[in-house]
Amino acid sequence: MIPKRQLVLTVDHEIFGNGSGDVRRHVVEPTGRMADICEKFGVSLTVFFEVEEYLAFEREREAIMVAWGYDPTAELRAQAVDLAKRGHDLQLHLHPEWVGSSFIEGRWLLRPERPTVDSLFETQEEVSVYIGERKAVIDGFYEAAGSARRMSAYRCGAFCAQPGRKLLRALAEHGIVIDSSLVKGMVRQDEHVHLDFIGAPVDCRHWRVSEDVAVEDTAGRVTEIPIYSRMGRRVQQLTPRRLMAKFSGNIPKEKQREMVKQLEIGRTPASVLRFLAQRFPIKLDFHNMSSGQMLRWIRNAPPAPEGDLDVIVLIGHSKEHRDDADFERFLAAVAADPALEVVSMSEIAERLRERMTDCCGGP
Ligand SMILES: [Zn+2]
Repeated sequence: MIPKRQLVLTVDHEIFGNGSGDVRRHVVEPTGRMADICEKFGVSLTVFFEVEEYLAFEREREAIMVAWGYDPTAELRAQAVDLAKRGHDLQLHLHPEWVGSSFIEGRWLLRPERPTVDSLFETQEEVSVYIGERKAVIDGFYEAAGSARRMSAYRCGAFCAQPGRKLLRALAEHGIVIDSSLVKGMVRQDEHVHLDFIGAPVDCRHWRVSEDVAVEDTAGRVTEIPIYSRMGRRVQQLTPRRLMAKFSGNIPKEKQREMVKQLEIGRTPASVLRFLAQRFPIKLDFHNMSSGQMLRWIRNAPPAPEGDLDVIVLIGHSKEHRDDADFERFLAAVAADPALEVVSMSEIAERLRERMTDCCGGP
């Protein structure tokens, strides 16, 4: 029997990267809808829960309750525990910009100059303690749900996984076996962010890492499983679905202006054309692509190389979820296809741990 192609449906559970947005509207409510749809098909959603943002809400609870009229920490926690009880998967996601953030006059002021975990601390020991404390938050949700499961996968905020030497070592120390932060072919260089994934292994579905997510180290204790993508041109991203995801009335105006500025499109017709022609990795994102297009990409992906799990990681963001019907169509088509199955990141971690034990005598 040919092993099925395994799909991990990951969703980043967070408000916007500049601190705008609302926890009920952009996180809890859409995630609840996605989880309900997954349950119709008996599959689990893998939720990358943003712990740093959660801890900031906890720290500023009183001021937020005045501004928002409810306690977001309580709602996030209740949802996490409920999802774990229902068999969904909780994993760790961090945007380090929230460390040292403050809530002033109803707005969050973040620290964009520190987008990576490695930039937060000088020593390895500090990073290891930091990751251990954040892991404990997710594990605490599982415990409260009466689940024996523990977190096993990590995703960097905004794909900022470089430099990541201290981070990867800390993940390994805490038995976190998966990082899923890389997008093949992605490059970003700006004032604070320097990432270059062009040199990442091209043909593998996943690879072991130790110092850099884009560099294979067969002795590494963490496996990088990239978010599935294909190289294309920016013009291919101009689909109605993606434009709605980024620019609908659901997205704060301030965030829309910031996105346009970050893209550096320019104002002349020539600069716009140059922008649209840029080569760019297009992610398998169930909030930016139609169900039909996603299925085509998934079915047309080349077979996994020998020795690799045939795993494809999809991404979505709670704040961009709008179309329940299309998400349901996608899951119905996957359920009807004998060559595909949805699995959780925890299941993939389990398979990887078994392999490590087989080949290396222990993780
Ligand atoms: Zn994020």
